Amino acid sequence: MGCCLSKGKDSEPQYSGYRSAEGGAGMHYQNQKAHEPVVNQLPEKRVVEAQTVPQAPRKTSVPVPSPRPVHRSDTILGKPYEDVKQYYTLGRELGRGQFGVTYLCTEISTGRQFACKSISKRKLVTKNDKEDMKREIQIMQHLSGQPNIVEFKGAYEDKLSVHLVMELCAGGELFDRIIAKGHYTERAAASICRQIVNVVHICNFMGVMHRDLKPENFLLSSKDENALLKATDFGLSVFIEEGKVYRDIVGSAYYVAPEVLKRRYGKEMDIWSAGVILYILLSGVPPFWAETEKGIFDAILQGDIDFVTQPWPTISSSAKDLVRKMLTQDPKKRITSAEVLDHPWIREDGEASDKPIDSAVLSRMKQFRAMNKLKKLALKVIAENLSQEEIQGLKAMFTNIDTDNSGTITYDELKAGLARLGSKLTEAEVQQLMEAADVDGNGTIDYIEFITATMHRHKLERDDHLYKAFQHFDKDSSGFITRDELEAAMKEYGMGDEFTIREIISEVDTDNDGRINYEEFCAMMRSGTQQQAKLF
Ligand code: ADP
Repeated sequence: MGCCLSKGKDSEPQYSGYRSAEGGAGMHYQNQKAHEPVVNQLPEKRVVEAQTVPQAPRKTSVPVPSPRPVHRSDTILGKPYEDVKQYYTLGRELGRGQFGVTYLCTEISTGRQFACKSISKRKLVTKNDKEDMKREIQIMQHLSGQPNIVEFKGAYEDKLSVHLVMELCAGGELFDRIIAKGHYTERAAASICRQIVNVVHICNFMGVMHRDLKPENFLLSSKDENALLKATDFGLSVFIEEGKVYRDIVGSAYYVAPEVLKRRYGKEMDIWSAGVILYILLSGVPPFWAETEKGIFDAILQGDIDFVTQPWPTISSSAKDLVRKMLTQDPKKRITSAEVLDHPWIREDGEASDKPIDSAVLSRMKQFRAMNKLKKLALKVIAENLSQEEIQGLKAMFTNIDTDNSGTITYDELKAGLARLGSKLTEAEVQQLMEAADVDGNGTIDYIEFITATMHRHKLERDDHLYKAFQHFDKDSSGFITRDELEAAMKEYGMGDEFTIREIISEVDTDNDGRINYEEFCAMMRSGTQQQAKLF
């Protein structure tokens, strides 16, 4: 989806509401070609490839409810078919995109409203289409939990469609607000720009390049004047691979960075696109404009920015300074996301910027902190078994926090890393998180410990992950984790005493037979991670 320009009566370019689905200046580019060889620096500890199909227990005295078989090759989500209507009632249509229709939906158990994007599998023709879809879901899950990113609720697949349930953004598109308003006051533009650059900052920190920033890809959380902006579309986003030079031309014409057109770019391209949006917010017209696509690209490569035409003479020099810095041709000289958030014009009332106070990393670490030790250990078993694909973003995040590349995160690195993500924490809080994530108690957080504490709770929905973890503890495949087995596992990691074991069993063993069966184990793993986070 894109947006086009039309010439106004007075021959001034006007930002119009017309959008072309295909072709024209609003075209979407994805040209999957010409990648450089990947120089992929793996952290020292390797993560073992996940076993795709869970094994049935060898011999059991009591039947263990084994998960339904997963035939990953047939499915997009890599889990069994599930009827979304079991959990949600689908309501009216909210909008339509290239691949799917988005409906209002209501969670049956809670009555809460969400948006459900249903993608017809018939439209996912090639292997590439399916891979793109999978990646989009993975990235949305990875980034979910940040204030300016749409919250991901769940993904369901049936024979005909894939359904993505996410937070409902009832305020419509930023694009439509721009059309309705023409242009914004500097204060309002700064608030929107700050939120967009926040998305860039978080994406980049979490190892993701957005690659398609434009007003159409932001929705407003509500109809309220001060509604939060939410990035909703990650269809062209990728996990950033260390050392890779990106060459495929992606994005939408007005927003595309010059280095993308030159087929040699990295994450700086997102800042350029945000700069184009800022220019539009302030003036109502795009900075690089022409009748044809080629003309637009030439203007981008030329890079002349018009600060002369109305309303620019009335706009503050500080705002222009930021636009100029964001639209710097050389990506190496371009302002970074952290610097934008610190720019005087962006900082609210000259105060520190309102970066998210609770990043997803922090809230996941808090959730982890509140878990009982069996759950922590089980998560560690799951983390050790995740595939490279499943941990892509977390790997990048670990590297971003481990600034001296030692392979472990120290107290100072954790504190600095969380601060860079916008979290304001006291020394005591950082210390508590540190101790929680440091499962083996050696004073630093290693790679596996970091993955364990920060991986997304949606991983817990996967039967095969849970089943493997259960098997790890149920050494004799009896279908139960007994007291002795629990004690042995805790000893193995040097973390269990008599009291802890008794406590875990009394918490998890709901049928009071003195041991933990698979159902009880799953219930514990899936229980209230969200509520726990709030208790911190
Ligand atoms: P695209 O093909 O451009 O990615 P989408 O399928 O993502 O389009 O979205 C199409 C339309 O559906 C959007 O323009 C918006 O109006 C609506 N929509 C998408 N996601 C949501 C949401 N989370 N809440 C409310 N409306 C949404």
